[in-house]
Amino acid sequence: MTLQIIVGTQWGDEGKGRIVDWFAANSDFVARYNGGDNAGHSVTVGPKLFKLHLIPSGIIHPKPVAVLGNGMVINPQSLLAEIDMLQKSGVDVNPRRLRISYGAHLITPAHQAIDKALEAARGKGNIGTTGRGIGPAYTDKATRRGLRVQNMLSADFMEKLNTHIDEANQQLHMLGAAYINPSEVMDDFKRYREFMLPYIADTSLELHEAIIAGQYILAEGAQGTLLDIDHGTYPFVTSSATVATGVFTGLGIGMTAANNARVTGVCKAFQTRVGSGPFPTEVFDDLALRLRGTGSNPWDEYGTTTGRARRVGWLDGVLLRYAVRINGLTELVITKLDILSGFETLKLCIGYRQNQEIFNDVPFGPSNLESYEPVYEELPGWAEDVSAIRHWADLPTAAKTYLEAISRLTGVPVRLVSVGAEREQVVSIQ
Ligand code: IMP
Repeated sequence: MTLQIIVGTQWGDEGKGRIVDWFAANSDFVARYNGGDNAGHSVTVGPKLFKLHLIPSGIIHPKPVAVLGNGMVINPQSLLAEIDMLQKSGVDVNPRRLRISYGAHLITPAHQAIDKALEAARGKGNIGTTGRGIGPAYTDKATRRGLRVQNMLSADFMEKLNTHIDEANQQLHMLGAAYINPSEVMDDFKRYREFMLPYIADTSLELHEAIIAGQYILAEGAQGTLLDIDHGTYPFVTSSATVATGVFTGLGIGMTAANNARVTGVCKAFQTRVGSGPFPTEVFDDLALRLRGTGSNPWDEYGTTTGRARRVGWLDGVLLRYAVRINGLTELVITKLDILSGFETLKLCIGYRQNQEIFNDVPFGPSNLESYEPVYEELPGWAEDVSAIRHWADLPTAAKTYLEAISRLTGVPVRLVSVGAEREQVVSIQ
């Protein structure tokens, strides 16, 4: 096995960062294949909390080389800030350890301004984007006028950037939004370009050579299955391929690497969502507060990127089965099991009801969930604090029953369970 893919099974925020960190220690490469700084991946190492948005969380380990793949959209300002933060925390980041694909696209302040202006124009029907310019950058990519990292290598980069700002200003004018000052952007990008040049690489070729040499590649997905542009709750999705197959286009590696790949789906023990869109198992009031936390703890359910309170609900097994199918998952990792301690009973959504009809799978994909009502199985809860448990045998019987129910419902084994924010707060199940 040379390829392991870590993918979110829900609407992002499943805790992928700390799971990548768990598997990264022995990997040769940790590679992000989609999205940009809309992601927020948190890893706690002793007293340090790392909040990463662009660079794969595996960089915290000394061994792996981190890759920003061609499927990504990169905001250079965030990139430089993140590199600075990591270096100040003692993490070795240099052009040998961080490789940026020439094929990735650049995000500029104009993309961010358009993102915000489009959201304002949508009014009540907004998507609830992170405002990071993700959609507009991927729009430029699809309409073939995007700025690629590769453009930074050419003498006419500044000219291209100027044209981009000009075009963006026309769009901003139509949206009634303020203009972007081209000279400020140009000055900043001169600096970004100088800094980024040594990091630019043919990461597709480097990963190909690594695969041939039998090296171990960990592919880190951002967001989650239900935010995928094709397979998510469209239109309330992000603009990239978040699912496991996104790895192949987003890193530029061939399908033969998929042979025997380990496809690990990360799933929170309950459901969360930030931004607008359908959420069949959502809960409110006191119950929501219990699942979300008050925000006093960095692991409570508030966005790493935007600080927004996340919507919360019971685990949706129908959508999880869908994620297993779409991603071809070979195993599951359940995160935040510790948050469920103290509930008398737990609800697990095992089907959807519409009129009198019951559905075990999502009818016509998840973009049309409003008319379905969840069908729940009630399971016993457990009172014990599980955060110090490291072995399956020591988990309360009700916790084992809950995990077994998830496995049975989805048909894939649960291999790892996180019971706290610290690196070692994990129960590994063989
Ligand atoms: P965008 O990716 O900023 O365009 O936002 C589109 C949708 O995806 C919004 O509902 C965001 O809240 C959501 N989203 C984007 N990135 C993340 C993430 O990393 N975690 C959770 N939700 C996200």
